[in-house]
This record gives sequence, C-alpha cells and structure tokens, in this order.
Amino acid sequence: MEELFRQLIESVGEDPDREGLRDTPGRAARALEFLTSGYALDPKGVVNDAVYESRMDEMVIVRDIEIYSLCEHHMLPFIGKCHVGYLPKGRVIGLSKVARVIDVFARRLQIQENLTTQIAEAMMELVEPAGVGVVVEARHLCMMMRGVEKQNSRMTTSCMLGAFRDSGQTRSEFLSLIH
Ligand code: ZN
Repeated sequence: MEELFRQLIESVGEDPDREGLRDTPGRAARALEFLTSGYALDPKGVVNDAVYESRMDEMVIVRDIEIYSLCEHHMLPFIGKCHVGYLPKGRVIGLSKVARVIDVFARRLQIQENLTTQIAEAMMELVEPAGVGVVVEARHLCMMMRGVEKQNSRMTTSCMLGAFRDSGQTRSEFLSLIH
C-alpha cells in the first residue's frame, strides 16, 4: 500500500521525495489500514459475550454515537452520528459494545444506506430483541469538497426491524426519544 501511495503522490504531480512528503506514503498506508480495519472483524467477535440476561423490557436507546466511515464511491470520509434503539426480549448488550459493532461496519468502504442496515441486522442477530431501530445522520465530504459543493446537506438513513417496523407506536417512541 505504501508503494501505491507513493505512485499516487507522483500522479497528482508531486515529488514524493521532498521533505514534507517523505514519510507520507507510510503514514497514509497506516491510516487507510486503520480506516478499513473493520474487514478483519465481525460483530460477534467484538461483542465477546457482553450480552446479558435481563428482565428489562423497556426500550433501550444509545444516542449520538459518532460515525466515521469512507464512502465507497470516492473513498472520502462521511462523518456523523448514529442512534440505536432496541426493545429487549430477555437480553441486553453492554453499552460500549454497540459502538464497537458500529465500527466493525463503519471501518470499511461503505454507503450510508448499507451501513445503517448492517448495524441493525447485527444488533438483531446478537441481542435477539423484539425489534431494532437505527438512524444515521451524516455529512459526506465527497459532496462538500467536490462536485456540487453543498456544505450543509446532511443525509439521514434509517432501518427499522421487528417491532420497530411493525408498530407505529414503538417507532414514534424511538424517533421522539432520539430527537
Ligand atoms: Zn462519495
């Protein structure tokens, strides 16, 4: 990857041997490796049994979890927030693990729509709740820095499964609690 970054620097018309750029291929390679480290992980692995039996049956919501991902069309960042809610059915998941599950999918080349669905499906599989709702709000640098240059547009995607899909009341409870 380091050699490829060197070529990339050359191909934009720069000199990869000038002082400021000498270590850049290595640094860029390590950064990209980190930003795509989700490919080496799976949700079950990161959750590592942190799913506990519980009689709690009210909605659990984790709000404003930061999301950093790379769009698969331009390999530029999209940045935003994710809100996850679920309705427990005998099991709850450790709070920090929700964020870990998100990063498994965010640290890949993504589109926001698929990222949202993958988070919801993973939660469904891991926690086996009565339902899951996931909302992602993000700004896309490919839109802000190039092309249409829309600085303030945000994209919102959602995925509702189980009770969050079937019951309008559950869905509105979730949506009013995250806003
Ligand atoms: Zn893009």
